[in-house]
Amino acid sequence: MPKQNLTLFASFLVAFITSAVAADKTTAFSRPDLAAATTLRERALADGTAYQLVTSLTTEVGPRPAGSPGDKAAVAWALREMKLLGFANVRTVEAVVPHWVRGEAEFEVLAPWPQAMPTLALGGSIGTGSEGIDADAIMVKDLEALAALPAGAVKDKIVFFSNRMERTRDGSGYGKAVTVRATGPSAAAALGAVGVVIRSISTSDQRFPHTGGTRYTINSPRIPALAISNPDADALVRQFESGKQVRLRMKSSSRDLPQVRSASVVGEIPGTDLAQEIIILGAHLDSWDPGVGALDNAAGVGIMMGVARLIAGLDVKPRRTIRVVLFANEEFGTSGSLAYVAANEAEIDRHVLGFEADFGAGPVWRLSSRVNPAQLPAVDQIYRALAPLKLARGGNDARGGADLDALSKLGMPILEPNLDGTKYFDIHHTANDTLAQVDPDALRQSVAAYGVTVWLGAQYPGKWERVITPKPPRR
Ligand SMILES: [Zn+2]
Repeated sequence: MPKQNLTLFASFLVAFITSAVAADKTTAFSRPDLAAATTLRERALADGTAYQLVTSLTTEVGPRPAGSPGDKAAVAWALREMKLLGFANVRTVEAVVPHWVRGEAEFEVLAPWPQAMPTLALGGSIGTGSEGIDADAIMVKDLEALAALPAGAVKDKIVFFSNRMERTRDGSGYGKAVTVRATGPSAAAALGAVGVVIRSISTSDQRFPHTGGTRYTINSPRIPALAISNPDADALVRQFESGKQVRLRMKSSSRDLPQVRSASVVGEIPGTDLAQEIIILGAHLDSWDPGVGALDNAAGVGIMMGVARLIAGLDVKPRRTIRVVLFANEEFGTSGSLAYVAANEAEIDRHVLGFEADFGAGPVWRLSSRVNPAQLPAVDQIYRALAPLKLARGGNDARGGADLDALSKLGMPILEPNLDGTKYFDIHHTANDTLAQVDPDALRQSVAAYGVTVWLGAQYPGKWERVITPKPPRR
């Protein structure tokens, strides 16, 4: 390159860089805010608060399905712990929740080769009555296969859904497989079936059946529904593949009691000059009952409370208000988050940015978002501040968790530090969801990733604009 061209090129480069910096100046994070992000990250990586909270919730409360005594104890636990951590404006937001009682369940192959298998009733399933149900069985892969059967094929039979969920890091395998659990019992009942058993919506090869909510439709009879573990489902498939008639027995004393009042629990780190704007940190407080809800979702509770506590401990105060909301009843209809939205109807637009933790104990491996495209440069800046944690950069297509679904449909932007879900569905909703599954190092790393992201979200010098593109269906 000739010398004068080189000089011209250099001056262009200087002009370009100068203008880029100038254009960015109004929305660039300040040096003190970036320095505080570094402090926050370093403290989080050495902080045991989240793990202590997970330990306390799983030990002192344990299982806490909606409507149960554990649910009530969890609300009292959250109020106490938030006050102990020094959160402001600690309060409850009332929610009406279902009160389904699991009871005992039994599952047996009667023919061709008899054996009993461990089972769990699907959440919300009706019971069988004390005599149980003995019936010939038919195996179908999924809902499409059920719909393709000739008329009368499942009449008076027990339907076994055999489809296996796929293991993925982002949890997308669950979304694809879970419709069988949610709608399979009603779909089979509409065709005359008397009971349903599903292969657990799980990636585990251990003998832990996996529960989770089912949803009866109003226009077909309600029939009992159970789940068996992957290895037992494999064994049952082999019985069907023998070509001999399979006969099954199911028995369950599950039952519905009247709905009860529970509550979401709220606590805040008040903001300063932008205190009217709320950064919401959501995690659900309830759990299913076979385990103690360590990964699902004491971990999310610990991450969010740990983040808020670390932010409160910084020398600089947040500009926007950090509001932790521990939602009631995510697992069986999200009535807690729906009640929260209804109770806060007048101030929905003050919820300027949302975070949710409901996908285990980490580590965080990627940063995704669902923000107005005008704020993508801010997400880039936050991503750069996370560089020491070596995360991948996700797209602007984050779907968020179930509890922020209503708020994000109303246009609230979401930042999503993605928790690694590769092994999550080995444990989720099983008796094996205990503290032993939580890796303290991964949990600390998750608090660090969430912490930096939440902090900078609260300090953003620009305006978090609403998201106006329609929201894709949640996984
Ligand atoms: Zn959950």
